Amino acid sequence: MSDSTRREFFERAGQAVCLTTLVGAAGLVVRRSWALDAWAIDPNRCVNIRLGVNGPQSVCQKCAETCVLSLSAVRAVNDHSQCGRCCICPAYFDVQSTVGPDGLPSKKLCPRDAIVRQPIGEVDPYDPLNNYYEYLIDEEKCNGCGRCVMECKDPAGLGSIRLEVRYDLCLRCNRCSIAEECPETALQRCGADPQPRSPLVSAHA
Ligand code: SF4
Ligand code: SF4
Ligand code: SF4
Repeated sequence: MSDSTRREFFERAGQAVCLTTLVGAAGLVVRRSWALDAWAIDPNRCVNIRLGVNGPQSVCQKCAETCVLSLSAVRAVNDHSQCGRCCICPAYFDVQSTVGPDGLPSKKLCPRDAIVRQPIGEVDPYDPLNNYYEYLIDEEKCNGCGRCVMECKDPAGLGSIRLEVRYDLCLRCNRCSIAEECPETALQRCGADPQPRSPLVSAHA
């Protein structure tokens, strides 16, 4: 091998090593930012949970509308340890709608039909208000619009439904577009290793 060919060989080898090192470093940065940049909703700050005169006049839908994903990474979840399993759930039924022949509101609240109602035990048709139901969120339909969250609180609901950023769906954007729009700064960084969702239950759990 001539001197010039040898020099060329070593120059190319050096460039390859540099490129490999740069790619590796970039990968580390990406992995590190992934580890650091999880976002979470503080449920106590979300305006849709607020009660009474301080509560909102209309539902805040920014979680559904401003996420960079076409189907928001924010979904509703029902904490079953808090749920009353009510026969007439104000998050499931549109309680303003006319009452049907079965004595129940004729329309559902969720615009995406994302809430599943399942009876617990045997249904007594002669005593409908003493029947109990499990309410599950279909996470493949829910877009986090917040309507059910707003309705599931006093006087008719117990506040068991809340909005959550789904860690498995969220892109962990450096600047979360929802965080920038949220009127209550409810979206905040939550550390490198957020706790798994619990006791969140969905129709696909
Ligand atoms: S943007 Fe903020 S206030 Fe609005 S629904 Fe989301 S968390 Fe709640
Ligand atoms: S947040 Fe909206 S889309 Fe999701 S279950 Fe509640 S009402 Fe339906
Ligand atoms: S960080 Fe990005 S993907 Fe995650 S909730 Fe915010 S806007 Fe959506």
